[in-house]
Amino acid sequence: MKKIIIFIGPPGSGKGTQAKRLAQKYGYGHISTGDLLRELQSGLELEEDEAEALREMKRGKMVPDWLIYRLAFKAAEKNLNSGQGIIFDGAVRSTPQAKMYQEFFAGKGLANGLAVVEIALSDEEAAMRLASRRVCKACGEIVSIFAKHYESCPLCGEVLSIRPDDSEEAIQERLRGQGNAALVAIREYYQKLGLLKIVDGNQAVEEVEKQVEEAIQ
Ligand code: AMP
Repeated sequence: MKKIIIFIGPPGSGKGTQAKRLAQKYGYGHISTGDLLRELQSGLELEEDEAEALREMKRGKMVPDWLIYRLAFKAAEKNLNSGQGIIFDGAVRSTPQAKMYQEFFAGKGLANGLAVVEIALSDEEAAMRLASRRVCKACGEIVSIFAKHYESCPLCGEVLSIRPDDSEEAIQERLRGQGNAALVAIREYYQKLGLLKIVDGNQAVEEVEKQVEEAIQ
């Protein structure tokens, strides 16, 4: 299996779910820049430029690259130092970012040990999934209320909440900036490097997982 796996795809396509499952199964580090930003948010002292970036995040806008690089590369160094492979989830959302990560991996001698997997999903389907998403504040479990109603977290019984950036306006903003239109250039960049595999995200989680595993060998 490749040492570095990068998931791309629109918000709501299931990158996080797949990344979590794979990381657990293979003992890889899981770097979700969204999660790192939410962790930063829960910290006590924020610099003003960080606080501003997090306000933008709540509105569904992308946060500045410097913050993404700072958080993602620090986490990556930690994983690599302990010999772990890494699964990046949502860490690449523009071609400048894709190029910066390639430079980082090349510097570590890892440019060839890399697979990029796009979980393909239409913006319409993504919007529906995001609007149906609920998150447990206690254990972080993510559930969909689309097909089944949950009163509380099915894992720990705590209260489920809506992510601030899963509001209707923020979902539209996220899909404008991070949806399929934004993915065209990123897809092309990785295709040219011969690194891209595409998996249909409109299938059961287990089936997507099976195809992802085939793609990253
Ligand atoms: P996610 O949890 O992956 O859906 O990310 C939540 C939000 O974090 C996004 O809507 C962006 O505001 C921000 N974010 C996460 N990753 C990135 C990135 N690579 N570049 C810019 N903003 C990001």
